[in-house]
Amino acid sequence: MTFVTDAPSGALDLGARWREGFAALGPAFFTELPPAPLPDPALVALNEPLARDLGLDPRQLATEVGVRALTGSLAVAGSRPLATVYSGHQFGVWAGQLGDGRALLLGELDTPIGPQELQFKGSGRTPYSRMGDGRAVLRSSIREFLGSEAMHGLGIPTTRALSVTGSDAPVRREEMETAAVVVRVAPSFIRFGHFEHFASRDQLDDLRRLADFVIDRFYPFCRQSEALAGNPYAALLRQVSERTAALLAQWQAVGFCHGVMNTDNMSILGLTIDYGPFQFLDAFDPNHICNHSDETGRYAYNRQPNVAYWNLFCLGQALYPLIGDEELTLAALESYKTVFPREYEARMRAKLGLADAQDGDRALIERVLQLLARDRVDYTIFWRRLSQHVAGEPAEPVRDLFLDREGFDAWLLDFGHRLPADRRTAGLAMLRTNPKFVLRNHLGELAIRRARQKDMGGVAELLSIVQAPFDEHPAHDAMAGFPPDWASHIEISCSS
Ligand code: AMP
Ligand code: MG
Repeated sequence: MTFVTDAPSGALDLGARWREGFAALGPAFFTELPPAPLPDPALVALNEPLARDLGLDPRQLATEVGVRALTGSLAVAGSRPLATVYSGHQFGVWAGQLGDGRALLLGELDTPIGPQELQFKGSGRTPYSRMGDGRAVLRSSIREFLGSEAMHGLGIPTTRALSVTGSDAPVRREEMETAAVVVRVAPSFIRFGHFEHFASRDQLDDLRRLADFVIDRFYPFCRQSEALAGNPYAALLRQVSERTAALLAQWQAVGFCHGVMNTDNMSILGLTIDYGPFQFLDAFDPNHICNHSDETGRYAYNRQPNVAYWNLFCLGQALYPLIGDEELTLAALESYKTVFPREYEARMRAKLGLADAQDGDRALIERVLQLLARDRVDYTIFWRRLSQHVAGEPAEPVRDLFLDREGFDAWLLDFGHRLPADRRTAGLAMLRTNPKFVLRNHLGELAIRRARQKDMGGVAELLSIVQAPFDEHPAHDAMAGFPPDWASHIEISCSS
């Protein structure tokens, strides 16, 4: 990568590695416009491993020119920034046109890890901003950066984050905050809502273009499949249903709450996308609502799998004009109902160190979740301590987590009978499945407070931990401990 600081445009040059990508769909799908610069941008965080994976030089990205480019204050040569249009259902209600109101796709890069889209979030107003200011605040940008990298570290499909840059430019939310820009990375940022948009307007040629684009780029085997009467659009719906089911199984198993599962926040690739009021559970409460704007608990932790199906149903309705057959559409969606429970059980069995499936596993899983819920046991700490116990440590640390010791002892006895003879191997597998660290709200909050004081060390430190959450990191044991009392008072809403 070379910088062409003296080029007439003063642009950052990433070389000739741009591909046409989403822009090939044509003007019905987006509006081209440049990002709105922010004054005096500074680097808040850089994801060096990701930069290297993309074939970019982190040292150059960290220079003044690099930081300006990452903020959208300096053009990137060869990029064609554009805001895409989509619609969606928000909180169960059709919301009409939405679109990238504060995001801009820079383009698609050829990288050592395959073609990747680079996207700014918080880079200014677009034709889809509606009443919004086009900005993202430092707080939510750090949460998105750390949240997506934490999910990646856990092996859960997600969009990634390359950088956060910030400025002292004021942004009004519940209180005055400052502006920041996240550079996000994913093979595609296409959402269910993109399909809903064209279907809702009867723009069937555009709808087909979009579906063909997604199939050709990401699901080419849908054209060869003989299942579902050889219908490629039904095959696409089935693929997305299965990927979404697998994703939800991973969310539930790790205790991740997304918080705003609107159809415009659902990835066509089955990635976790749009980190807003998300939360990793502290105490296990199946009804936990992480989003303070979610008054009815539509997106509560235990409702997420059903909501995902509801969202897929919206996608099915959008694809129906292409599929052309109601039964095929329903049959494609039906796969969610078999894949989710299968994947969820597989994930939970892995958490228990069980390599094979046996009758009675489901009951074993349900019983322990009931015990965890009744005593509001810390979800992450429970699984880690159980793993350590199976690996050879005494039972007390895990047993002490419960008020209902008798209930737990009875469960542990049954679990012990179910475990394989080689407990140590099972325990070591559990330690690679049950993380020591998740990005708890209060950990993010502490890093954010430091960043507001211009001390970026907390974000960097947390990034390195959540990127390797199964490692011990003995110097950071405190981050694996119980959350402080104030953690339960952190209020995270849709406002970001
Ligand atoms: P979200 O709930 O963050 O996924 O956003 C829902 C919709 O609102 C999307 O179309 C966003 O682009 C848009 N939006 C959210 N915040 C802003 C903002 N500050 N300025 C402009 N658009 C926004
Ligand atoms: Mg969104």
